[in-house]
Amino acid sequence: MVMTVASVALPVHEKLFIQKNRILPPVLSESAKRVCIVTGTHGDELEGQYVCFELGRRLQNEHEHLNGIVDIYPALNPLGIDSISRGIPMFDLDMNRIFPGSEDGTSAEFLAHSIMQDLVGADMCIDIHASNIFLREIPQVRVNETSAEKLLPYAKLLNTDFVWVHEAETVLESTLAYSLNAAGTPALVVEMGTGMRITKAYGDQLLDGIFALLAKLDVWKGNVCPPKEPVISTDGEVMQVSSDCCGIFTPCARHTAHVQKGEQIGTIFDPLAGEIVAELSSPCDGLLFTLRDYPVVYDGSLIARILGGAV
Ligand SMILES: [Zn+2]
Repeated sequence: MVMTVASVALPVHEKLFIQKNRILPPVLSESAKRVCIVTGTHGDELEGQYVCFELGRRLQNEHEHLNGIVDIYPALNPLGIDSISRGIPMFDLDMNRIFPGSEDGTSAEFLAHSIMQDLVGADMCIDIHASNIFLREIPQVRVNETSAEKLLPYAKLLNTDFVWVHEAETVLESTLAYSLNAAGTPALVVEMGTGMRITKAYGDQLLDGIFALLAKLDVWKGNVCPPKEPVISTDGEVMQVSSDCCGIFTPCARHTAHVQKGEQIGTIFDPLAGEIVAELSSPCDGLLFTLRDYPVVYDGSLIARILGGAV
């Protein structure tokens, strides 16, 4: 059942709609739980589109196993997706910096407010992101330190390789997930893949995790695959490799590999001079969970993140 969550008028007699697909169980009990899958806040992140499609398809195909409500929101920022823009095009605004929004604010703030009102009260919300066009991420759940105790048992069910527990001071209060958690609605952020692309294998991996989570919440009675045990960031230390020059980066380490201290991650070359200007190596032994996908780099560009000490 496709439902409209919010709509605002556009300048030339058109309307912007934010929609969700509500999939109801064959028998809806009063105690039925509700799980929300949201994505498309950043219009250049498309990995979640496949997850929404395939989740909806499977739930409808095996409808008899559904025991709760699943709401699927593929496009929180539909104008961004349509125009290949990360933010909301008309405002050039990062939509994940305006939550919880405002009922009588600008159009963008009103949309954020309407989305919040629709999600608050759910038993779980999963917000799927896909990095950006520059970096490729291993499938991971990100939770902030302040809600880690409550969220970690659920985060571990999502069948990702990695769970990153962020320190409190790096938490962005204006994100959707932070606002939902602050309002008492548990919300997990998934980051995986890279911007403007769909990595089907990552989507399938996460789907197995979403079904495991649905089963844990008694929303799904069908078969599930046991989720893999993720590495938790608190088991090690996240180290970062950045460029200290301008040029063109090409990787030689494999994304998701376990690298050794001193092992080469890639090189930066100068195409005009025909010279290698930097060779970048890992500062520690660990899991290479973020690797630069976009070749052009400047001084300070992020190249890689490694979870040091990870097994
Ligand atoms: Zn994002």
